[in-house]
Formats: sequence, C-alpha cells, structure tokens
Amino acid sequence: MVRRLTDYRGIVDDAVIAEIYRKGRKLYKKHILHINSTPYGGGVAEILRSLIPLMNDIGVRVGWRILVGSPDFFRVTKKFHNALQGDQISLTRKKIRIYEETNETFAKLTHIDHDLVIVHDPQPLPLITFYRKRQPWVWRCHIDLSRPNRKLWNYLKGYVLRYDLVVYQMEQFAARGVPGEYRIIQPSIDPLSLKNMPLSRTTIRKYVMKAGLDPKRPIIAQISRFDKWKDQIGVVDVFERVRREVDCQLVLVGDMALDDPEGQEMYEKLMAAVKNKRDIHVILGAHDVMVNAIQRAADVVVQKSLREGFGLSVTEALWKGTPVVASNVGGIPAQVKDGENGFLVDPYDHSTMAERVMDIIGDRTLREKMGEKAIQHVKENFLITRHLENWLDLAIELLS
Ligand code: UDP
Repeated sequence: MVRRLTDYRGIVDDAVIAEIYRKGRKLYKKHILHINSTPYGGGVAEILRSLIPLMNDIGVRVGWRILVGSPDFFRVTKKFHNALQGDQISLTRKKIRIYEETNETFAKLTHIDHDLVIVHDPQPLPLITFYRKRQPWVWRCHIDLSRPNRKLWNYLKGYVLRYDLVVYQMEQFAARGVPGEYRIIQPSIDPLSLKNMPLSRTTIRKYVMKAGLDPKRPIIAQISRFDKWKDQIGVVDVFERVRREVDCQLVLVGDMALDDPEGQEMYEKLMAAVKNKRDIHVILGAHDVMVNAIQRAADVVVQKSLREGFGLSVTEALWKGTPVVASNVGGIPAQVKDGENGFLVDPYDHSTMAERVMDIIGDRTLREKMGEKAIQHVKENFLITRHLENWLDLAIELLS
C-alpha cells in the first residue's frame, strides 16, 4: 500500500508533518530524478522505495530510474565497490570500457529533462558526461570513501568533479581531496514499511515457527546480503562459541542484490560452512514480514560487518527494541551506543563478540533496558521523515 505523509502522525509530531508539507510547497512543479542500479537488495533500494512515494505524496514530482547493466558490468562495479572499501584492483582498460560503455548506452536510451538529478553510488556515476547538463546533478554516495584504492578513486574523481554537490552518509565517509562542497544526509528507515511496521505477538510467533526456529529458546540473528564484508561465516564462529555455553539458535537471513554478482558464491560458501551444524538456520530471500518478525523475535541481533556503509539492518533491529552487538565500523557507531543499546566490538575479535552476545542473552533486564534506548535513538535520529526533510532542504537550496 502506498503510504501518505499523514500516516506518520503519532510516530512523529504533527509539527514535523506540517513543516514537511510547507517545504514541499516550495518545490511544486519541480521534477526530480533518482538513478541507482538495483530495484531490490541492500539499503539504497530500501530507502528509495519509501522516500520517492512520500515525495510524490507531498506534491513534488519525483521519479526513479534503474541503470540497466550486463553481468559483466556488475562484476566490474562490484570490484570497484570492493576497492573503494580497501581491496586491491587491477584497473584495466577492459574494465573501464565496460563501465563507460554501459553508462553511455543507458544515456542513449534515457531522456533526462528533470530539474534535479540525484545519482546513487558509483555504478551510474559517469552518466553525467553523456548529457547536456542543464540542471544540478548530485552524487549521493553510500560508501565509506575515507580510505579508497587510490588509483581507482583518482579515475572516478574525474566524474565526481563534474557534479554540483556530493552527499555522504557520514562526515567520516567523505573522500579527501575533492574540491567543492559536500553535505551529510544520514539514512533512515520507514517505520510503516512491511519490514518495520508493528507486528502482533501471534504474527511474530507464526513467522518464527515458519523459519524453523523454536520460540522458546534464545535467538541470535543477522540480516545481511550474502557478501564477504558482512562476514556471515565469522558469525557462525561467534555463534559456536556462544553455543558451547548457552542453548541458543542462530538465524542468518540473506539475499542478493541485482548489482552484486558475488552473492551466489558467498551463499554457497556459507551453506558449505554450516552443513550438518545444529541450530543454524540460513534463510534466502525472506519476505519483509519475515525479516521484521525475526528482528523482533531475536534476543540479540548481530552485525558482524568487516566494512560497512551505514548499516540499515542495524537501524531496523534497534527500532524493534532489539539490542545489537555489532562491529565498530562504518555507520554502526552512530547507531549502536556501547553499553547503552547494544555493544560495539572489533569485528575480528570473535571471543569478545561472543561474550557480549551472552551478556545480553543472559540478562533480561539489560535486554529490556537496552531495547527501550534503542527505540528512542532511532526515533530521534533515523526515521524517514527526517530524511525526507533533509532532501527537501537540499532541493530547495539547489533549485531556488
Ligand atoms: N535485507 C533484506 N533481506 C535480506 C538481507 C537484507 O531485506 O535477506 C535488507 C535489510 O533489512 C536492510 C538492507 O537489506 O534493509 C541492507 O541494508 P544495509 O544498509 O544494512 O546494507 P547494504 O546491503 O546496503 O550494504
């Protein structure tokens, strides 16, 4: 069901709703375009699915286009993504050709006559070179660019320089050495989406049973794309350490994004690693309500990322009042306050992570106290209404 801004009354103050309508009014007749490279899987698609209908609801015309690429293209851009997070890459002519040609072909098929263009992440970054630019273009980067592979970044920067503005998720993600301005807009979750809406106890129980879990025994969960940076195999090791001390179950929910060709391989590696192991459940491509129910039913959610963008899976779990034990990387420390609403750990220190998980499983009062703080932290900082207002402010500034 398409949501309207007024549906959020009761979750945020009426004054916030009225202010958003007022800001939307300044953008009447404006036409804004978002471009990314996958319709599902991962945090970017998740946000666009909520943000775009809401902007239309308040009277701003906003569209979404998805860059069409071949498997080869996505193999190249996944390598770029990994290298921007610190991996090595050999930046061959072939990779560059595939990257640029895909963007050029898409540009030939796609008219852009909007008032503002917002391009997400590196996949569609070169598009800007294939249009006669007559409006502001914003590059919305969801990746931590503080320590990118230098050679690759130097190449990509050639495109970034053409943009009017770069928008990062966190101050510390900003790339160094890019002249010009940048802004910070933190991501958000939609409290009314199927993934985050309230669920009855009966529904939660129903989904827990459907997942093959025992509702009477403690549940540890991680919800992530199958990706080496999310380190699901490391989560299994942490779980086994916990399992030696406490009777509990692990559920790993995962999916694959259209623009991520490594998912299948990671999934197969994980399945091989958990073969014949007790109390470990791997769920591929769960429905949003299933994700919601598991995040609610879990005694603790873990996010054992080795690198992370913002980490919306963490936000989602906190919103459900579930404490999170997570790696101290990327946007996670902005969300998990150590000892308050969960614990922050070094992602390579499995034994401390196991101990923190046990601290939470073994102490119901702590769990409840942390859960209350978790909800409050998300409410104050990471709801879609704040995010919507940030984009309206930026569009007003760029278009006035
Ligand atoms: N997600 C999902 N099903 C899965 C795995 C992940 O719906 O099986 C969702 C998850 O709930 C979250 C998003 O994908 O909304 C992941 O966003 P995050 O920022 O944590 O990581 P990214 O995948 O963008 O690196």
